[in-house]
Parts: sequence; C-alpha cells; structure tokens
Amino acid sequence: MAKNSSRAVGRHFLQIPGPTALPDRVLRAMDTPIIDHRGPEFARLTKKCLEGIKTIFKTSKPVIIYTATGTGAWEAALVNTLSSGDKVLMVETGQFATLWKKMAEKIGLKPEFIATDWRQGADPKAIEAKLREDKNKEIKAVCVLHNETSTGALTPIAEIRKAIDAAGHPALFFVDTISSLASTDYRHDEWGVDVSVGGAQKGLMLPPGMSFNAVSDKALAANKTAKLPKSFFAWDDMLAMNKVGFFPYTPATQMLQGLSVGIDMLHEEGLDNVFARHHRLAEATRRAAKAWGLENLNKNASQYSPTITAILLPEGHDADKFRALALEHFNISYGASFGAYAGKYFRIGHLGDINDTMLMGALAATEMALSLAGIPHKKGGTQAALDYLISAHGSAAKQAAE
Ligand SMILES: *Cc1c(COP(=O)(O)O)cnc(C)c1O
Repeated sequence: MAKNSSRAVGRHFLQIPGPTALPDRVLRAMDTPIIDHRGPEFARLTKKCLEGIKTIFKTSKPVIIYTATGTGAWEAALVNTLSSGDKVLMVETGQFATLWKKMAEKIGLKPEFIATDWRQGADPKAIEAKLREDKNKEIKAVCVLHNETSTGALTPIAEIRKAIDAAGHPALFFVDTISSLASTDYRHDEWGVDVSVGGAQKGLMLPPGMSFNAVSDKALAANKTAKLPKSFFAWDDMLAMNKVGFFPYTPATQMLQGLSVGIDMLHEEGLDNVFARHHRLAEATRRAAKAWGLENLNKNASQYSPTITAILLPEGHDADKFRALALEHFNISYGASFGAYAGKYFRIGHLGDINDTMLMGALAATEMALSLAGIPHKKGGTQAALDYLISAHGSAAKQAAE
C-alpha cells in the first residue's frame, strides 16, 4: 500500500505457503446459517466430509478431523500412539521439523534428531542406518515431513517406507503432509504410513483451524497401549462419535461446510490435474529464479517442493526488507526465512487455488521488487517462466489433440 494511502487496491497477492487464498466458492459455502451440530443434516455433512477426506489421503481407514491447527494434529499423532520416554527418530529438515521435535520433547518423548543443513529433505539412507543401529528396537516411531515448508524440500515418502522395511524395524511411521496434501501425490495406504498429519489452510484451500490424522490399523493397535495423557485429541472418543456422524464436542461447523465444497472442487478439477498444476507452477517459479541468477535454498534438485520455492538473496541483502518493500509497492506477501538463514531468503508459495496467470502476476511483482530494492539480478526471470508455461500448455494442447 502506498505510504499516503489507507487502501490497498485490487486483490492482495498472498504468496505465503499457507494460509492460502480462499476460493470464492469455499467462502460462500461457509457463509451459511449455523445448523444443529447434533441434527440429521449435520450428520450427513460429517459423513460426506469423513468419506471425502479419505479420497484425499488415499486411504480406506478412518481419518480424524480436529478443530485445531496443524500443530494440534502433530500432538494428536504422538499422544495417541506413544508412551512417556519412548524414543522417536526425526529429521532436522528445517523450521517445522524442529518445532515438531521440540513438541516431542515437551510431551515427554526422547527424539533422536538427524541433522541436515536445512537445504534438502530427509535421506532414506540416513534413516535406514539409524534404524539398523537400534538393535534393541527402542525407536518407537519415525517422523518425517513430506514437504518442509520452511525450506522447500519434498521428501520421498515411499522411499522412507522402504528404508524402514529394509532395516526390518517395527517402528511406527508418521508423516506430516500439511503443506503437500492436495497439492502433490500422497498415498497413505500404499506408502504404509501409520499416521498422516494434515492441515486445512494449505492445499485444501480452507481457513486455518482444522487438521487431520489419517491412521493405519497398526496405529490403532498402538493406541490401545499408548500411555501419554490425552483428552481433547483422543482418537477413541472421536471414532465412536464419528460413526454416527457427530463429534465428542462442537466441531468447527463452518469449516466442515467449506471442507465439503473444497473436496468437491479438488475432484472436479481431478487430483492428477491438481498435482500437475502445482508441479508446473513450481517449475515456472524455479526457472524465473534461475534466470534472475538467484539461488534456490534447496540444493537437492530431486527434492524440489511443488508448493513453495525458497530463494536466497545475494550476500548482504536483507530478505525481510525486500519483503516489506514488495508489500508496500506491489501488494504481495512472501513467506519469511528461518534458522541460520533468517533474513537471507524469501519464500514464494505456489499452492492452493492458484493458476498460471496468478503466478505470473506474482513473478512480475517479484521482478519489479528486485529491481526497486536494488538487488543484483539478471532481467528475464518473468520471461523464462512465461516461456516455460507456454511450452507446458502447448504440449498439453498437442496431447489433447492427438
Ligand atoms: C503450516 C505447517 C505446520 C503448522 O501448522 P499450523 O496450522 O500452523 O499449526 C506444520 N507442518 C508443516 C509442514 C506446515 O507447513
């Protein structure tokens, strides 16, 4: 917003990696009268959401819906399956992995943290090696983030499953899929995940305040003997009430209205099309950054995130000042930077209800802001993204014509 103005004109470009901009259809679905949360209409809504969300996690097992942000669903995964003093194996992929590890410590677990340089995802080989060392099978769970939102690294979950199996280790397998679910392929059942943790405000295109645990039979069995204290997050009460279409307490009724429509929208577009769109927009963003001559924080090209790109600024340039300038002049918000790289990079979120044209607006704003901020870069990042998107659409159109 201009300094002498009290109004920002037009739509804000919310390029943070969640919460993401809400589609109007989701907003309209939530802008409806409150209905009785113990009545028959509500039971129908609950059942539609509980069945629908399974198709997003690709599971035939129950998914538990919490009135909590993703952080709540992290806690739910741990307290429902583990006991005080249990060892868990985690990987320091970035800020969110670090927060989950701190939570594990606070609730009485003993996390072993595999260090990384915050410039890549989790390494299946490192996990396999740690599990092989654990001769007494003291590690009760392996916890990884599918997409590390703070750095833009996507970990191959099927390969982590293979690593656990190759080590012949009985540990449970927990995956945070908060910033990947409904944006890139995710297969709870096929990948043998025991608890998948999801959140509403990223690829699912909902406001913050709802989160998920998709569970396996093995996780449900662990729940029977897990001793960590739990009440609000207890699976058993939830599952019993969900069977009849209700919750043990008042759920976020309007969020469920939004979720029902959000899931419809994902299936109308087609999940594979949703995933292809996210991968295309991510590639276009990376090409822009490369053409600007700016470095991707993620050094591992096989683990690039489809939902967020972290771009390093040249030494001596403050990314927080850059973000403030871009907001003031071009009405765009980027994600912040963390850890040892705080102030050194900014993150472009390209997930949720976003199309090619919206992304190009964001990249054009970024190129203008780079110039205005006097950050050394080459011209032509926006053009490189345009060229890529034209060719991607061209080959899609050709395929359709054949
Ligand atoms: C956003 C996010 C979280 C935290 O979710 P909240 O809804 O802010 O509690 C956890 N993990 C990942 C990977 C995220 O992107």
